[in-house]
Amino acid sequence: MDFNDTPEEAAFRTEARAWLAENAQDYKQRPATPRDDDTLVRLGKAWQAKKMDAGYGAIALPKAVGGRGGTPMEAAIFAEEEGRYHIPSGAFIGIGVGMAVPTISMHGSIEMFKKFAAPTMRGDLLWCQLFSEPAAGSDLAGLRTRAVRDGDDWVVNGQKVWTSWGHVADWGLLIARTDPSLPKHKGLTYFIVDMKTPGIEVRPIRQPTGRSEFNEVFLTDVRIPDANRLGEINGGWKVAMTTLMNERVGSGGGSGAEASGFKALYSLARKAARHEGQGLANAAVREKLAHFYAIEQGLKNFRYRNMTAVSRGESPGPNAVLGKLISASNMEAMAAYAMELEDYAGIVAGNDIDPAQDSVHFAMLWCAVLRIAGGSDEVLRNQLAERALGMPGDIRVDKDVPFDQLPVGR
Ligand SMILES: Cc1cc2nc3c(=O)[nH]c(=O)nc-3n(C[C@H](O)[C@H](O)[C@H](O)COP(=O)(O)OP(=O)(O)OC[C@H]3O[C@@H](n4cnc5c(N)ncnc54)[C@H](O)[C@@H]3O)c2cc1C
Repeated sequence: MDFNDTPEEAAFRTEARAWLAENAQDYKQRPATPRDDDTLVRLGKAWQAKKMDAGYGAIALPKAVGGRGGTPMEAAIFAEEEGRYHIPSGAFIGIGVGMAVPTISMHGSIEMFKKFAAPTMRGDLLWCQLFSEPAAGSDLAGLRTRAVRDGDDWVVNGQKVWTSWGHVADWGLLIARTDPSLPKHKGLTYFIVDMKTPGIEVRPIRQPTGRSEFNEVFLTDVRIPDANRLGEINGGWKVAMTTLMNERVGSGGGSGAEASGFKALYSLARKAARHEGQGLANAAVREKLAHFYAIEQGLKNFRYRNMTAVSRGESPGPNAVLGKLISASNMEAMAAYAMELEDYAGIVAGNDIDPAQDSVHFAMLWCAVLRIAGGSDEVLRNQLAERALGMPGDIRVDKDVPFDQLPVGR
């Protein structure tokens, strides 16, 4: 037991640990080379199906809809235990299970839920989130993709961007503007769209890591049946909030990634101590490691406090965003310090290098995304200022103006 689990939670943790020890053997070690997308998706789907069969695939969803009927705390405990392994998973599973299913269950028809929930929870159907656009990210309600009614269909034109796993997704969660004469939050409608519909073009965006996990998606005269609408016409903002709330829950505050970053850093510092006055043999390095360790412990205990609040049926409150805010910049700082410790070796890449070294190189190039995705640092700070500290709100002069009267909407 890692912290003050209730007896029921401790029993669940023991059960989950035993199941993982038996079933996740293949993922105990970090793979020698990063998995390519095809392998990752194939293994990730198989792992999700295995979890579903064992009752761990959708822990917090009610039994009536195919979940385990467990608590959010049990879901968090399982994620924490799973985080000890190098599981082939990622947003390509999380968007479907953690965002599409809860959104459809809250706003979709029963038929829609019956059609999509089970295959999504097994990992057979993959989803992507078609929200952000070139001029609409933090200010999502400024989006310009248009959907125009034509008989029983809607015809959609526009462009989305940063669409994670859009290149492997079967279905997309789409928000589009259906009435530009309304203020920006009010003229939006939410749809689900089959990614194989004619007129959808997915173009990969290459990241500094060499991978292309996200994409640009161009929509030209894409026809979506009205039956695939979620919620009211022009009521899409409310539906989008359900999706975003579930995204925040999924990305809020690390589940061991912080600890694995520290472990890699510590392992490098220990190896460097083979040379006199280097690595752990150097007092300045030890001091810096103690600093990162203290932050890591603080984050862990902060996460536990939030989890405890959730398990008591309370809200973790507006301070919860601190977890992501601190953890993202701390991971970046640890990766940068690890590169410093490596000196010239920091520029070496390839399959033959130490796995800890390889993981910090990847982290260095990758973890900047953590400070943007799921709410940028500045946006989270605004939330803290307004909701936790009660400071005056951000200035929003365009909030009640019809979208087509704004410069961006003309
Ligand atoms: C790895 C990754 C995966 C993603 N996956 C998806 C996906 O699958 N689907 C999807 O729809 N989107 C996705 N996104 C997009 C993500 O939601 C946006 O990048 C994010 O909302 C920020 O929007 P933006 O990039 O347009 O930046 P902007 O909103 O233009 O922000 C630019 C800068 O201005 C700052 N800023 C903006 N508004 C304010 C303000 N009011 N006050 C102070 N500062 C402000 C920001 O903090 C930032 O520094 C992903 C992003 C990343 C990095």
